[in-house]
Formats: sequence, C-alpha cells, structure tokens
Amino acid sequence: MLEFFDDTAYEQNGLYIPEASDCMRCGLCVSHCPTFRLNRIDEETPRRRIRTIDKILNQSVVPSGEELAHLNNCLQCRACETVCPSKMAYGQLLDQSRQKLAEMAEPSRLAGLIEKLSLALIEHKPRLHLLSRLLGIYQRSGLQTLLRKSGLLSVLKLETYESLLPPAIDAAPLQPFYLATIERRGSVALFTGCIAESFDRVTAAAAIRVLNRIGFDVIVPGQQGCCGAIHQHRGRAETAAQLAWRNIGVFNALDVEAVVYTASACGLMLSEYEQLAIDDFDDEELGFFRERLIDVSHFINLHWPDNLPLQACRKIVAVHEPCSQRNTLKNQQAVYELLARIPAVNLIPLADNAVCCGAGGVHRLTHPHIADPLGAEKIEQLHISGADLLVTSNIGCALHLAAGAGQLEPQVTVMHPVALIGRLLQEAG
Ligand code: SF4
Ligand code: SF4
Repeated sequence: MLEFFDDTAYEQNGLYIPEASDCMRCGLCVSHCPTFRLNRIDEETPRRRIRTIDKILNQSVVPSGEELAHLNNCLQCRACETVCPSKMAYGQLLDQSRQKLAEMAEPSRLAGLIEKLSLALIEHKPRLHLLSRLLGIYQRSGLQTLLRKSGLLSVLKLETYESLLPPAIDAAPLQPFYLATIERRGSVALFTGCIAESFDRVTAAAAIRVLNRIGFDVIVPGQQGCCGAIHQHRGRAETAAQLAWRNIGVFNALDVEAVVYTASACGLMLSEYEQLAIDDFDDEELGFFRERLIDVSHFINLHWPDNLPLQACRKIVAVHEPCSQRNTLKNQQAVYELLARIPAVNLIPLADNAVCCGAGGVHRLTHPHIADPLGAEKIEQLHISGADLLVTSNIGCALHLAAGAGQLEPQVTVMHPVALIGRLLQEAG
C-alpha cells in the first residue's frame, strides 16, 4: 500500500524533508537551473515549479496547461537541490506531484496509450529482448543504412527516435556467471537493468572483463529487471515499487561482496528505493540491498591490484559528469581516480559539468527544444577542449552526446570509463 502523500513533512535518513510549501522563494536555485539558463524566464525556474507542485500536492488543484508545460520541461537534474538552503527534496516532490496528477487527470487517450505500451515494454524482459533482436536485425541487415539514406525516416518523423539507437545492439543474453581470470578474491553481482544489457553491451562486457581481471567472479542474475526510474518519474510509483521489490529480492538472495551498476541514473534509483515509502518495505532488506550497492568505477578503483598493468593512453580524455552522479550520488571522483591509473593520460573535466547535458531520461524524444540546445553546448565545450575521447557513466547521456560528438571533426568517441579501462587492459595483454 503506497503512502506517498502524507501531507506533513517527514523524516528520511535522519534528514528533514520539507514540503513544497516550505520553499522560501529565495531564488538561490534559479541560476543553477538549466532550463532557466536556456529560457531566462521565471516560469522555467525550480522556484516557480515548486509553486506548481505545491498546488498539486497541497491544494489538489490541476495546474493550467501552461504551468504543466513548464513543469514538464524540468530535466530532473536536481541541480536545484544542491544549492537550496531549505533542502527542498525537489526530485521526490516532482515524482509525488506526477503520481498525484496521474490520479487526478487522465492524459489524452493516445498519449496515455503510447506511454502505457512503452512502460509495459521496459517492465517485461522477454518483450524487450524480442525488440532488441528485431532492432539488431534492422541494423545488421543494412535496412538501417538504406532508410537513413532514403530520407524516409524524416518523412515519417522518426529521425530523432531512430538516431538514438546505439551503434550495435546485441540481443544475445549475457551469461549468468563469469569466472575471475586471476586468483579469485570474491564475487559481485552486476545490475544490468532493462535496456543496457542489449543497448550498451560494450560497457556491460567491459565491466565483466575488468572485474574478472581484478579477481572477482561476476554473477548476472537473469531475473533482475528495470530499476523503475522511468515509472517513478512518470507517476507510476506502484509499478516502480514492484520493480524495486523484485530487484531487492533477486540481489539480496545472492552471496556476493557487492552489487555493482554501470549506469549512474539506474544507480541513483537503486540507491533511493527507500524513498518509495511502501508500507511493507522491510528496513533490514532495504538496508542490506543499499549497503552492497556500488558504482562499478568506484568498486574497481577500490580493488585495483598493485601489479595490474594498463596500456598507456597518450590522449586527452574529457570526463562528463552525469547529473545523477554529480548532484545526488556524488561519487564522480571515483571515475577520475580510476582513470588516473592510466599511464600518460591527460584527464580533464568537461567544462560546465554542473549543467545538465539535456538527456534527462527521455527528454531528447519528448522535449527536443530543451535537450538539443543543452546537448549542443556540451559538444561545443568538447570541441574547445580538444579532447580525443569523452567518458560518461550514464547510458542516456552517452547516447545523447554521441550523436553530436560523432559530427565533430575529428570525431570524438563517447564511452563509459570502464570501457576505456577494459580496452587498455586488453591492449596491455
Ligand atoms: S533555493 Fe530552495 S527555498 Fe530558495 S527558491 Fe529555490 S527551492 Fe525555494
Ligand atoms: S531539477 Fe534541474 S531542470 Fe528541474 S527545476 Fe531543478 S535545476 Fe531545473
């Protein structure tokens, strides 16, 4: 039973979480908000959105279409949370308002149907595998090249959707177990969630290879599923909670040192399962799940063996810090520490890392007028930096940025930090 809308402020992790009405309107968050930076109007600020959220949550009022449009432009980057003196839990409040809105106002039939179908696909792994297989055939058969050249995708208004496909979708499921390739030091479980296993196979395979090379067996439980972030952010907290319970059950049953994740947005959702506030969530189970959860770069860096050589890399590597990593998980430093192990590398942070790249979950599809200019700013910074490679720990950001980075002259490859480590380990033999 969900109890999301207790309208008194509540305690979580010992912190006071204010209500939407507790916003002091001080405006400190305004200049940190990427949508305000783009549009320069008060309606596009966290402060104004909090007012809309307050209307929904505390006054049970359905906001005007214009207010909703401004609310939905939010990228959920949570940069506003990092500077708010009232410690507004903006991300939670927005999720709660979407849940309440879903109960108060039906979306249009078509929009509702499309959303329902997309979410049902993500929830159901066999269907997702089938889709991945079909997309893999589409890519390998040459149909993708043909359609891209024909201009038909643009006529059908499918160009943006299609451009988000990763270069090589691999639908074959991962093995359930990968043995350490040096003397065994322990075992870890790998969280692959929903699409990452097929859409970002390079990262999953590299994570397994590197973990094996530092002495850890890797278990990839087939029963795991989507982290639930998309459902949670679309006002479907009940489904998000079901997905959470499934993952907690699957991973807690394993005798492993750690549960590692590669995508920071999934990692954030997994680390905030306790905020789903479900009656029958068991604190001990949640605590056990949370304490073994760790970002893959962080885990590898902590367990890097003294004598493991890496091939030198005489390149400029720019580090993009996804909002989930920088604003909430706050573990981006582990990426720098891990990559600093590479001999001769010139490691630089991508300029303006504090500003969201615009990927924002599905924003590139639903809000290209926000996602595209923010993405273009990143690509401009990447170009100015002269970097040869761009690393990012989130698949959504990687897909969003890869499109622009591929247009640069010379092209810049976008990859997960662990994929770079995996490649250099292989080259070192
Ligand atoms: S910084 Fe916090 S308290 Fe100040 S306006 Fe923004 S949300 Fe409100
Ligand atoms: S989450 Fe990001 S985009 Fe949304 S209001 Fe806060 S700073 Fe702005």
